Amino acid sequence: MAKESSSVWHPNTQMSEWDEFGSIVEAKGMWLTDSKGRRMMDAVASMWCNVWGHSDPDLIGAMREQAGRLQHSPLFNLTHEPAEQLADGLVGISPGMHRVFYTDNGSSAMEVAVKMALQCNSNKNTGRHKLASLENGYHGDTFGAMSVGYIPEFFGRFRSHLFDVERLPAPRQYRLPAGFTPEDYAGHCLDAMEKVFARDETAALIMESGAQMAGGALVYPEGFQRSVSRLCSRHGVLLVLDEIASGFGRLGSMAQYVAQDSRPDVIAYGKMMTGGYLTMAATLATKKVYDSFLGGPEEGRHLFHGHTYTGNPVAAAVACRNLEMYGERDLIGRIARTSRIFGEYAGRLGRMRLAGDVRHKGMMMGIEMVSDKHSKDPIATTKGSINRIFFELGRRHGLYIRTLGNILLLVPPLAISEEELAEMLDRASAMLKSAETLIL
Ligand SMILES: *Cc1c(COP(=O)(O)O)cnc(C)c1O
Repeated sequence: MAKESSSVWHPNTQMSEWDEFGSIVEAKGMWLTDSKGRRMMDAVASMWCNVWGHSDPDLIGAMREQAGRLQHSPLFNLTHEPAEQLADGLVGISPGMHRVFYTDNGSSAMEVAVKMALQCNSNKNTGRHKLASLENGYHGDTFGAMSVGYIPEFFGRFRSHLFDVERLPAPRQYRLPAGFTPEDYAGHCLDAMEKVFARDETAALIMESGAQMAGGALVYPEGFQRSVSRLCSRHGVLLVLDEIASGFGRLGSMAQYVAQDSRPDVIAYGKMMTGGYLTMAATLATKKVYDSFLGGPEEGRHLFHGHTYTGNPVAAAVACRNLEMYGERDLIGRIARTSRIFGEYAGRLGRMRLAGDVRHKGMMMGIEMVSDKHSKDPIATTKGSINRIFFELGRRHGLYIRTLGNILLLVPPLAISEEELAEMLDRASAMLKSAETLIL
């Protein structure tokens, strides 16, 4: 139970709507337990980052062991074994990538990605300094990340302070503008992109790899990312891919850009890198990008960026162990099997009255909730925010839920078993059933 007067200001939360927050005291596997003894299955994977479930002894052991030896050492003028080993591991899972730059959260990794892309153009005197990105993208909450992202509800208050980015239409399959099929619309998006690229001013295109997650669990149509990648290389535009939510297996493959047959110049990993146990993120660049930063000290070509906790040894050690476990336990193969459960439930969930559209890929499912399937009007109620209502409903059904606008997002820890995932989806469908009575 929250204290009578708590001092915590919660993220992205209308504080006046909550008089108390459930206090989690313990977590094991897929289950969270609060101070009142209530249990919830973690359908949020601790904000999309948990891989093996909670309290995994291997990951805890790796943290404990490293913390006992070297708890922090900077990468300024120094290095350490966990940072070296992890960088090799990350390059190993990322074909085409050559160097790893560490940060401690995804937003910072994207700030670095944008700075790398801009400075690489400046190092090479390309004369290009404009950035392009996709509408509805999300890359984090810092100013650079908000500028290249931009979901109006999230960032509207800061719009006048965001830097200028060419925003290109993003493909979608639900709520298509009138007169388009999904294929036509993806073609339209690519045409719009090519028109902008043809001006020869674009330094880099920034987009999420595989799907727009925070923008609403919007999975790109087959072939879209490959076509974007080809457009970028044809027009000399650097391709920056955000793998923070989609990489490390969430969408079914280790690096989503490989599955999408695309060739980025810069990528960013975050969320699942440490298995969800400590905060760490990384930006990776190709040799071509990296080499443009080399030169004499007087030339000032080095990357102008660095954080205090960059490459923290404890975070790096747990990330190394996490990466090893992906191999030892064939997590990607396991996900291919487990994710079929989402497919088995999609039809049934889609027939529920609240479900306008059900989208899923790998270990992610988004159920877009509407008040009317025909008009596709998003669900609305005067009983409070959708997030608050579904959180409470979820808790009653033994599920931890955090909605994205009118989308019910189900993103379990990646190593969830088939039985546990079926249980989670049974609970979600019972929850949707009670939501019908409450909301419609
Ligand atoms: C979460 C997320 C980020 C930001 O990461 P933080 O660690 O929350 O700063 C960036 N891009 C995508 C696609 C994300 O899902």
